[in-house]
Amino acid sequence: MKIKDLFETMEYGPAPENRDAADQWLDARQREFQLFINGEWAPPVSGKYFDTINPANKEFLARIAEGGPDDVGRAVAAARQALPHWAALSGHARARYLYALARQIQKHSRLFAVLESLDNGKPIRETRDIDIPLVARHFYHHAGWAQLRDTELAGYREVGVVGQIIPWNFPLLMLAWKIAPALAMGNTVVLKPAEYTPLTALLFAEICRSAGLPPGVVNVVTGAGETGAALTKHEGVDKIAFTGSTEVGRIIRKATAGSGKKLSLELGGKSPFIVFEDSDLDSVVEGVVDAIWFNQGQVCCAGSRLLAQESVAEKLYAKIRARMEKLRVGDPLDKSIDIGAIVAPVQLHTIEELVRKGVDEGVRLWQPSWACPAEGYFYPPTLFTEVSPAHVIAQEEIFGPVLVAMTFRTPAEAVQLANNTRYGLAASIWTDNINLALDIAPQVKAGTVWINCTNVFDAASGFGGYRESGFGREGGKEGLYEYVKQTEEDAFPDKPVVLKKAKPKAGKAG
Ligand code: ADP
Repeated sequence: MKIKDLFETMEYGPAPENRDAADQWLDARQREFQLFINGEWAPPVSGKYFDTINPANKEFLARIAEGGPDDVGRAVAAARQALPHWAALSGHARARYLYALARQIQKHSRLFAVLESLDNGKPIRETRDIDIPLVARHFYHHAGWAQLRDTELAGYREVGVVGQIIPWNFPLLMLAWKIAPALAMGNTVVLKPAEYTPLTALLFAEICRSAGLPPGVVNVVTGAGETGAALTKHEGVDKIAFTGSTEVGRIIRKATAGSGKKLSLELGGKSPFIVFEDSDLDSVVEGVVDAIWFNQGQVCCAGSRLLAQESVAEKLYAKIRARMEKLRVGDPLDKSIDIGAIVAPVQLHTIEELVRKGVDEGVRLWQPSWACPAEGYFYPPTLFTEVSPAHVIAQEEIFGPVLVAMTFRTPAEAVQLANNTRYGLAASIWTDNINLALDIAPQVKAGTVWINCTNVFDAASGFGGYRESGFGREGGKEGLYEYVKQTEEDAFPDKPVVLKKAKPKAGKAG
C-alpha cells in the first residue's frame, strides 16, 4: 500500500492535551483574580468583576477584576515609584531579570500553552509550538539588548512609565512583544490585557513575583475598553503602546494627541498573498493554510487576500478546496485539530456579517462539506473567489478564517492590487523566480514582505505597519527606539506647546 493510500484510510483519533494542571492552577486561586499592582494582588476599587470563558465550549474559567480609573492611577503611581531604581540598574542587572523571566516561562511552558488555548480557543499545537516558544525567545533576545543599551544606544535613555494595551489574538506573545523591550530599555510598565484573554498575563504576573522582579516594575490591570481608555488618558504615563483594531487605534491617537505621550500603534491589515504562475502550487497551498487558517485567521497580518496569476488560478483554487475539505475544526486542546474556536460571540458575529455581505454582493463562496462543532464559537474555513477590488470583503478586515481570492495577469497588476487597500502590514510573494520576487517586494507597501513563506516571526526582526496598519516597530533593534528617548530631549520642556484657537473672521459663517 502506498503511504498516500494509507493516510486516506486512517481514522481520525482525538489526541487531547491534559488540562489538569491548568484546572488545578485556576482552582487553587478559587477562579478569581485581582489586579497586580506594586507586586501585590489588589481588589478593584469598584468591586466589579467580569467572567472569562472558554470559547470552545462556553465553560466558565474565572472571574476577573475590572480595573477602573482609580486602579489605573494606583498602578501608574506604583510604576512611577519603581522607575528611578529600575532605570538606574546596570544593563547587566536588568538582563538578569529578563533571563529569569525567560527561564520561568520555559519552565511553565505547558501550563501557559494550555491556559492560552482554554482562554483564547486557539489550537494547542500553536500555543505549544509557536506562541510560547516565541515568548521565551523575546525575553532572551531582549535580555541581550538590556546589556547592550548603553553601548549600542548611547545617547538614549528610557522613556519612563509605559502604558501597554494588548489584544486577545496572541495574548501572551503580545505581552512579550511589549514588556520585554520596555523592561530591557529601563522603563516600568502598566499592562492592560484584552478582556477575553487575561489568564496568561495573570500567570505572567505571578512569574514576575517568583523571579523577584522589584515591585511596581510590571503592573497588570485587567478590564475592557474603558480600563484601556483610562490608561491612555492618565497624565502619569509617558508612552502608550497599543496593538488592536484600527478603529481603537484612531481613538487612542486622538486621546494622546497634544499630550506629549510617545505612541506606537500596531493595527489591522488586509495582507496580500501573491501567487505567480511559476510557483510550486502544493507549497503555496500549505502557505495559504498558514496565512489564513493559522489562529482561525485572527491575525493582524493574515494573508487574507489571495492574488493568483490568472493562468493558474483555477488549478490553485481546486487544490485549496481539496485541502480545506481535510482541515479539522474542533477542540483546541486536541493535538489533531487545525482550527480552534473564535474568541468570542461578538467576533463570530462580525465574521458572519461580513461573509453575508460577500454573498449578498454575489461573490462565489465555498466552504467544506462537514459541519463545525455546535457547542462553542466555531467558523469553517471559507473561500471567496471571483472577488473584485470594490467588494466590501476585498477591503474590510474580516479577522476570521475567510480568504478572498482575486486574479491578476502581469506583475504590475499584482502590485496594483496588492496596494489597493488602506492597510500596509504584511505581504507574501510566491514564485520560483527570485529576481521577480525581489523586484516586486519593495513595490508592495507593507512593513513585512515574506518570499515563499508567510507568518514567519522572530524577536530579532522588526514588525509593524504603514498607513492604517499603524506606526512604530516591535522586535529587533528598530523596535527598541519605541522605548527610549534621546537624552538631548531632556533639555526641552515636556509640556506641549498650546496653540491658541484662531478667531473666526467677521462676516463668515461657521
Ligand atoms: P479587537 O477589535 O481586535 O477586539 P480592540 O482594538 O477592540 O481589538 O481591542 C484591543 C485592546 O484595546 C483590548 O485590550 C481592548 O480592551 C482595548 N480597548 C478597546 N477600546 C479601547 C479604548 N477606547 N481605549 C483604550 N483601549 C481600548
